[in-house]
Amino acid sequence: MTARMHLQPAALGLGMTGQRVRDRLIERLRENGIRDERVLNAIRTVPRHLFVDEALAARAYEDNALPIGHGQTISQPWVVAKMTESLFLDGAQPKRVLEVGTGSGYQAAVLAALGLEVHTVERIGDLLRIARKRFRTLGLNVRSKHDDGRIGWPEHAPFDAIVVTAGAPVLEDALVAQLASGGTLVAPVGGANAQGLLMLRKDADGKVQERNLAQVVFVPLLSGTVG
Ligand code: SAH
Repeated sequence: MTARMHLQPAALGLGMTGQRVRDRLIERLRENGIRDERVLNAIRTVPRHLFVDEALAARAYEDNALPIGHGQTISQPWVVAKMTESLFLDGAQPKRVLEVGTGSGYQAAVLAALGLEVHTVERIGDLLRIARKRFRTLGLNVRSKHDDGRIGWPEHAPFDAIVVTAGAPVLEDALVAQLASGGTLVAPVGGANAQGLLMLRKDADGKVQERNLAQVVFVPLLSGTVG
């Protein structure tokens, strides 16, 4: 799989956002157990500093979540890597993916850089508008909608992969129903302070296998939409 992004030279950045700091992040992800070279390469390629406020750009290649406004965060790179890698485990070859919780657009951009057909849903209109601008600037083909993502995106289902980037005590049945057979759903499930990163695989007869990949902390999955 190849990265399909066509980056402007300026987007490659220098100094605190340049190639050396990005390579350091990739080394760190490797040390922390991320193995899939396609995923590491996508993370190396996507300019994370363009997904945060300019004032935070110098911290964009640290392995931390960062605030993006409206009380939300851009996920930690390791978590993005872990979730993305899980979609390809055991030889899976997803094509069409749904993300719930666009936020900054970073996770969607990483999925698009892997050549996936990305559909993403965000409940906060202001965040979605900024994310869409980033997709356009980077030439990424990402479909997005402003909605409560707990209902998924039935018109485009089934999905080979579903990535939920906000935490909830239970998995939404509607999302599991929109997963194709052979598909993978990854979602933080648990209370407000910590969740298990659950990975579900639906086999050919529709039976679901579950694993817990890690302990994580995500912002909550909320109902309804805001402008
Ligand atoms: N994937 C994002 C992470 C953003 S944080 C990134 O890479 O930056 C989680 C996001 O989920 C927030 O933007 C929040 O507004 C959104 N969210 C929470 N509940 C939601 C829901 N029911 N439907 C859609 N988006 C939701």
